[in-house]
Amino acid sequence: VPAPERAAPAVKTTCPYCGVGCGVLATPDGQGGVAIAGDPEHPSNFGRLCSKGSALGETVDLQDRLLTPMLDGQAVSWEGALGAVAGGLKKIAEKHGPDSIAFYLSGQLLTEDYYVANKLAKGFLGTPHVDTNSRLCMSSAVAAHRRAFGADTVPGCYEDLDEADLIVLVGSNAAWCHPILFRRMIDARTARGTKIVTVDPRRTQTGEEADLHLGLKPGSDTALFSGLLTHLADAAKLDRCFIDEHTAGFDGALERARQIAPTVAATARATGLAEAEVQAFFDLFAETPRVVTAFSQGANQSAQGTDKGNAIINCHLATGRIGRPGMGPLSLTGQPNAMGGREVGGLANMLAAHMHFAPEEVDRVRRFWNAPNIITGEGMKAVALFEAIEKGKIKALWVIGTNPIVSMPRADRIREALAGLDLYVVSEAVATSDSARVRGRKTVLLPALAWGEKDGTVTNSERRISRQRAFLRAPGQARADWAILCDVARRLGHGAAFAYPNAAAIFREHAALSAFENDGTRDFDLGGLAEIGERAYDAHLPMQWPVPKRGPEARKGRPRLFADGRFYTFDQRARFVAVQPPALAQAVTEAHPLVLNTGRIRDHWHTMTRTGKSQRLSAHRAVPFVEIHPDDAARHRIADGGFARVTTELGSAILEVMVTDGIRPGSIFAPMHWSDMTSSNGRAAALARGIPDPVSGQPELKATPAAIEAVAYR
Ligand code: SF4
Repeated sequence: VPAPERAAPAVKTTCPYCGVGCGVLATPDGQGGVAIAGDPEHPSNFGRLCSKGSALGETVDLQDRLLTPMLDGQAVSWEGALGAVAGGLKKIAEKHGPDSIAFYLSGQLLTEDYYVANKLAKGFLGTPHVDTNSRLCMSSAVAAHRRAFGADTVPGCYEDLDEADLIVLVGSNAAWCHPILFRRMIDARTARGTKIVTVDPRRTQTGEEADLHLGLKPGSDTALFSGLLTHLADAAKLDRCFIDEHTAGFDGALERARQIAPTVAATARATGLAEAEVQAFFDLFAETPRVVTAFSQGANQSAQGTDKGNAIINCHLATGRIGRPGMGPLSLTGQPNAMGGREVGGLANMLAAHMHFAPEEVDRVRRFWNAPNIITGEGMKAVALFEAIEKGKIKALWVIGTNPIVSMPRADRIREALAGLDLYVVSEAVATSDSARVRGRKTVLLPALAWGEKDGTVTNSERRISRQRAFLRAPGQARADWAILCDVARRLGHGAAFAYPNAAAIFREHAALSAFENDGTRDFDLGGLAEIGERAYDAHLPMQWPVPKRGPEARKGRPRLFADGRFYTFDQRARFVAVQPPALAQAVTEAHPLVLNTGRIRDHWHTMTRTGKSQRLSAHRAVPFVEIHPDDAARHRIADGGFARVTTELGSAILEVMVTDGIRPGSIFAPMHWSDMTSSNGRAAALARGIPDPVSGQPELKATPAAIEAVAYR
């Protein structure tokens, strides 16, 4: 237990939950507690916090914390634990090759932690297998950005929501999952009459508040936006000038769109919507210049997620609605630092600093890091990586800041597979997380600092880099993730490359690697921060990248990209993409006639290791549940408030029944938060097979064939 602290003034930090990235004022009480308020000066939230952010003070106690390193279930010294990790990695690399080692990271990590993990694995251990739970979150949006813009770049910013006249939300329950951003949308409606349209098989809280809700068939988003592209062409609503001067591939994309959805009637048939609904949406989009289309997990967590993103972007490119105030596609990231992970290259298909594997990029990173074992090609993405563990191809796995036993598809199979690892390392703040309770042949648990104890940066959905600052003492023997990684690197003989005195030094190196002066084909440049000193880093104000070294944006950042119509492709033209017709990866069957959709609820976060501590948050939805349409409930003799067993090919969960006409007939919905640690038989996410998108590797978590039956539950 740490020594009592002195009461201190408010510390400016950033909420650790969703990708909105709200500024928080944290005032420690000197007894280990903290009072929480929104930061009125933070440009993402201007002082507002949602239910989760407001309850942060209820979640900082030390109950269930991992406070001591553990080796095979026994408390050990840091010396013993780090020696076991370094020794194990060395032995496995020598015996099976470095690519038998994998890292699984998290959008919860700070950018500095992410950077060091990525550098150690890809530059020094020599393994390409570094992926992250962000693969489950927004990797389809990343892939769509790269295909359309030549780089993974979010064009717009939150101010566009304030200035839009139409906001289209695709696969997003923003009212629950990005609540402060949704309040901004509602404010825009009040201030300027902005219309809100939701596109989602479920009529969620967001849909309830929308001007028009399109409850389309699961997986039919590409048909809707193909129909829209066709309509824009037929109604002469294209921006021909923009298409001709700044894009390529329009004719092929339009031809494909006409094949998929040639008319309003065909779009209605393909999406299961009424023709009048489709027509109303098309007219609104066509007639409203200032449109933002925000898309999130409902679009991304799909075996066609990348095409869904590109179908949306196609419509913005066709109308030239990008790079200007109040216009553009806007990917809403789920996690607080999904974007930071992308910046440092912490995904299996990236190398570092938004660079991939062109020979000159590999050479640049090798020289910059002075890295002896730099990798030269992509590693395995999350789904393939865990399958490789099942097949015994991966011998050592280091999980940092995430809980794959709950969140990964096919999680039960993964739990069994982890037991076969020669070395299983978990850097964790929570001793009781499901993933910390699994045992490999050798298991090392490393106590990590949690929110409020660690220092670094995060980047939100609009590319805004904000500081997370420590305001609580480090408890027990917990340490920063980057410091743990550096200690292992030193034991492996790479001390010189990992001799960082603090997080600021890591950030400086990260910013310097990202600086591409005089290179118009790069999207990500932090050259203006590459020499930032400790004091300036500590005082860093939220700013949006790029932050170049010279010019008007130096040290200020840029809110909106592509204002000049120049993109990051070799010819500086954006690309239209001819998308595939909609099709679910797994069709329903007689045995599994319903489509299971999984997702978040308002007051819990991921696997509940933090939000589960707050009684107030837990009261919102106390038990895991399943939503079902009244017609399906009647057919299956299931009563509202009773219990039902939901079964897929992979197993079953027992869930409380909520009968609602907010869900389409033929579909059911269950939240992803509960685990074996927080409920008995309530785990829903593990029921998904998670067939990945062929481009992004993001698994399908929105459409799993399932059966349902009533159960008597005592
Ligand atoms: Fe935190 Fe997101 Fe809520 Fe803001 S909207 S307070 S970032 S959970």
